[in-house]
Amino acid sequence: MVGVGAQPNDELARDAGLETARGVVVDLEARTSDPAIFAIGDVAHRPMPIYGGRMFRMESVPNALEQAKQAASAIAGRPAPTGECPWQWSDQYDLKLQIAGYAFDVDEILVRGDPATAKFAVFHLAGDRIQSVEAINAPPEFMMGRQLILNRKPVDKAKLADPAVSMKEVEARASVS
Ligand SMILES: Cc1cc2nc3c(=O)[nH]c(=O)nc-3n(C[C@H](O)[C@H](O)[C@H](O)COP(=O)(O)OP(=O)(O)OC[C@H]3O[C@@H](n4cnc5c(N)ncnc54)[C@H](O)[C@@H]3O)c2cc1C
Repeated sequence: MVGVGAQPNDELARDAGLETARGVVVDLEARTSDPAIFAIGDVAHRPMPIYGGRMFRMESVPNALEQAKQAASAIAGRPAPTGECPWQWSDQYDLKLQIAGYAFDVDEILVRGDPATAKFAVFHLAGDRIQSVEAINAPPEFMMGRQLILNRKPVDKAKLADPAVSMKEVEARASVS
């Protein structure tokens, strides 16, 4: 199976005069360029604070839910939710795939565990910081990896690559940036 990408249907927003750029451009409150109009989910092109405000258009259920919270908070006059690390999952028969973060500006890919056992994780690193993790049947790698992506903490790569060192220890030994 080959995935060849998706096209956001942003014509309605564009025709209405809203700013679009491969999706409807929104801010951290899910507001479009018209402050009275919100856009969330697959069609929204939005900033991601943990990556320095870089813009992303994401296609996942957690993304749609997070943006629903942002829009609801803005409409209700409450502060926007914080502390988000984008993630998604998929269950394929006996394989649980969990992905956190986005793999960009990556200069090293580190595999933890043995793919032959169908229980492993692939970490994408920029320097000594984790940009994203793809975990196969490896919930601790996903959970702790997600935490490390969110906190932007530099990690000890040798420990991260060693399955004998628990992810809890890897996380505990990561230094605060
Ligand atoms: C095959 C497949 C597998 C996926 N698997 C996963 C997964 O494992 N994990 C994961 O996190 N995400 C997965 N996704 C992505 C996930 O489904 C989407 O990211 C999510 O549903 C996006 O939510 P949304 O509200 O933005 O859009 P949608 O869920 O697509 O909702 C948009 C709604 O708007 C309606 N609509 C469209 N045009 C109009 C109109 N003009 N007037 C009125 N209503 C309209 C549509 O009928 C639809 O109900 C998968 C997607 C696909 C296609």
